[in-house]
Amino acid sequence: MTAKRFVTDVAIVGGGIVGSSAALALRRMGLKVVLLERDLCGSRSSGVNYGGVRRQGRPLSQLPLAQRAHEIWGRLPELIGTDGEYERSGHFKIARSAADMASLERYRATTQGFDLDLELITGERLRALCPWLGAKAVGGSLCPEDGQANPRLVSPAFARAAERAGAVVLERTPVDEVIGDRNGFTLRSRNSAGHTLEVQAPLLLNCAGAWAGQLAAQFGEPVPMQAGHPAMAVTEPVPHFMDWSLGVEGGGIYCRQVARGNLVLGGGSGLALDADRARSDRDAITKLAAQAIELIPALRDAQLIRTWSGTEGYLPDREPVLGCSRTMPGLIHGFGFAGAGFQIGPAVGEVLAELARDGRSSTPIAAFGIERFAAPPTSQTAPIASAPASIPELSHR
Ligand SMILES: Cc1cc2nc3c(=O)[nH]c(=O)nc-3n(C[C@H](O)[C@H](O)[C@H](O)COP(=O)(O)OP(=O)(O)OC[C@H]3O[C@@H](n4cnc5c(N)ncnc54)[C@H](O)[C@@H]3O)c2cc1C
Repeated sequence: MTAKRFVTDVAIVGGGIVGSSAALALRRMGLKVVLLERDLCGSRSSGVNYGGVRRQGRPLSQLPLAQRAHEIWGRLPELIGTDGEYERSGHFKIARSAADMASLERYRATTQGFDLDLELITGERLRALCPWLGAKAVGGSLCPEDGQANPRLVSPAFARAAERAGAVVLERTPVDEVIGDRNGFTLRSRNSAGHTLEVQAPLLLNCAGAWAGQLAAQFGEPVPMQAGHPAMAVTEPVPHFMDWSLGVEGGGIYCRQVARGNLVLGGGSGLALDADRARSDRDAITKLAAQAIELIPALRDAQLIRTWSGTEGYLPDREPVLGCSRTMPGLIHGFGFAGAGFQIGPAVGEVLAELARDGRSSTPIAAFGIERFAAPPTSQTAPIASAPASIPELSHR
């Protein structure tokens, strides 16, 4: 029995920051949108991430998107009705050796022209600015306009803003079936009472995060995506001492202090409980705590009060899939952000909206085409599992 039927211009699967910001951008262009989210918008990666809003450290391929996102983050209140605790606090990437420092210098040289304004800081200046840093730090690179935000506030706010702008946002509505042909797409969701909800649209955005591979595979574009689960922890509040969000060259730990005094820490990998749920792993948290104390010795007295993780999609080259399907007209992909999609999410949403309206993006996205995973014509491709396999190594922020 069909309980409800929607006919729209664009249907979106997934209400993370990517799908929700696409819905908002599409409404601002005047297109009709229906977004289907199986849980609550922003309840997955987009709402449980570390909250790093940084451009520094990204590959050159992502910097145009990151710059576009940087501009959007700067007008968050006007766009989504909250600042989401977003601050341009600065992002400081720490070097623990001369080799790390040389690597930061090279990154600074290659990213000239992207307005990152990276400043290398060493020696007495480092100690004067960061008296709380442990002895292992030899220097670092400051991106003064990078920052941090509260993902629990920002990501759902994009969905609410899309709704206020006229998008139909259907939460607790899993997309169980997608049928696509040259006339467009029909999406079906069944509830426990056996009622079916149906959405019809000529355009479909695949924004299903770590679970997006299934839809891509259904339309002949399997991708080697794996799930990753960054380990996260937060301390009790301690007196405020640090404005910057910290990362370290080579990875291992990242850390920021919120206005209430708690330090949010990330690093290493948690584990999957099932295809949908993940948690931090005891070993990862033990290592994270040791690294935190090495980085900031005063943390030896701070209690960790909570740990968590999330489920994120990683492709082998750590670049997302963003662009039109090569096999199915009207299908547009935006997924696989490899632990770094929160900052670029709002720009990705705008790009997806441009692709839906114009068929092309005003920001370069050639590096992210799904065709890079196309199997050579002679080879056989194995079907991918709905629950992506987990990977041990995660990118760092
Ligand atoms: C612990 C952690 C820390 C991170 N830290 C940072 C950071 O500091 N900075 C940064 O830039 N990035 C960070 N990231 C990465 C960032 O959170 C993600 O790249 C980004 O949120 C991806 O957004 P998304 O909308 O693609 O995915 P998601 O937020 O996962 O949204 C996808 C949505 O699709 C829904 N969905 C899936 N299948 C269906 C279906 N069949 N029907 C309906 N809905 C469906 C899911 O329920 C989900 O809500 C982190 C990620 C994690 C997990």
